[in-house]
Amino acid sequence: MTRWFGPSKQSRMKIHEYQAKQLFSEAGIPVPQGHVATSVDAAVDAYNALGGELAVVKAQIHAGGRGKGGGVKLVRSAAEAREAASAILGMSLVTHQTGPEGQTVKTLLVEAGSSILHEYYLGITLDRSLGMPVLMVSTEGGMDIETVAAATPEKIIKIAIDPDAGLQAWQARQLAYGLGLPAEAVRPAGKVFAAVSRLFLDKDASLVEINPLVTTSDNQVIALDGKVTFDPNALYRHPDIVEMRDEDEEDARELEAAEFGLSYISLDGNIGCMVNGAGLAMGTMDTIQLAGGAPANFLDVGGGATAEQVSAAFKIILSDAKVEAILVNIFGGIMKCDVIAEGIIGAAKEVGLDLPLIVRLEGTNVERGRELLDTSDLDIISASDLADAAAKAVQAAGAKA
Ligand code: GDP
Ligand code: MN
Repeated sequence: MTRWFGPSKQSRMKIHEYQAKQLFSEAGIPVPQGHVATSVDAAVDAYNALGGELAVVKAQIHAGGRGKGGGVKLVRSAAEAREAASAILGMSLVTHQTGPEGQTVKTLLVEAGSSILHEYYLGITLDRSLGMPVLMVSTEGGMDIETVAAATPEKIIKIAIDPDAGLQAWQARQLAYGLGLPAEAVRPAGKVFAAVSRLFLDKDASLVEINPLVTTSDNQVIALDGKVTFDPNALYRHPDIVEMRDEDEEDARELEAAEFGLSYISLDGNIGCMVNGAGLAMGTMDTIQLAGGAPANFLDVGGGATAEQVSAAFKIILSDAKVEAILVNIFGGIMKCDVIAEGIIGAAKEVGLDLPLIVRLEGTNVERGRELLDTSDLDIISASDLADAAAKAVQAAGAKA
């Protein structure tokens, strides 16, 4: 993974493709005509309303890679539209971004088909090392940009955007020529690049991605797909964006954690982590990786967590079926080790703990905390320091797997 993308499942606010296309349309970026449908009949009505022969029935879930997973179907008649809508609506769509359990499709977008000349990639995100948004384009549209970046990085053209001035006309032209666009498409493409940059800045987006951005046989430049994510810290400025939120699509554990005031982010590994302090939580994840393991989550219970919060955090970790071992790493400052111990014991009793639990406690009330854990009937592996804890967690998770 290249550095300008960051982790794929950060707690950014996501929206659906059809919502991204509403924003595109308002920003002056051409999109196909389309209608949203939540039933098969409505999808057929939408097909008929479009009036053309070729249309596309598209699953609306927050994850990408829908095409390969069977969530995007080209149709050429009302009967085909009905068949495609029946197949996609309600399906559990599995893509490389959903995880093996997939995501249930509740909404469809039925769009007029486009006659594609070429598919391009366009994306804008923040380059943290430059401290500026960077617009990227590539001739390799339709492919995952991570794959292009790994195999043929020279096929990605990048340009930094001044956040005050926006994209300059010469930059838009440079991108269009860099892509080798036909002369007739240079001007419309330039307009899209400028409009996408403006949208990114105006809406405090963390990512705008159009994959594919296509040229058509009549030299139009159209966004066939749309993904927009937003910086959660700026959402207070955008009540219209907050309205677009679809909690059905969000990680259930992340939502639950937010309710308890905990910072939790789901990850792909099998070692659940409970840590106090964001820095220590990151250090813990790094140490797990260094020991050859993979964290199942980032979790910062915070400085002054109560026993209830600790208990909630512990239950959230346990509700993740991927977790094979739990590592608790607490450096008690304001947070007291005995409070952590009480929370863990309470939660473990309530939900029944059958996973190896590795605990490293240090700091305020550590003796009392250790005593509580030792005298509980929990089977705990104690660790002397973080490296020891990580090694033991990796071993325990491996033994369980
Ligand atoms: P994703 O798989 O989740 O990224 O969904 P996309 O919206 O990108 O659709 C996947 C692929 O379907 C695109 O890369 C196109 O090749 C194809 N596709 C989507 N819309 C149309 C269309 O209107 N006409 C044609 N011919 N192909 C389309
Ligand atoms: Mn796409």
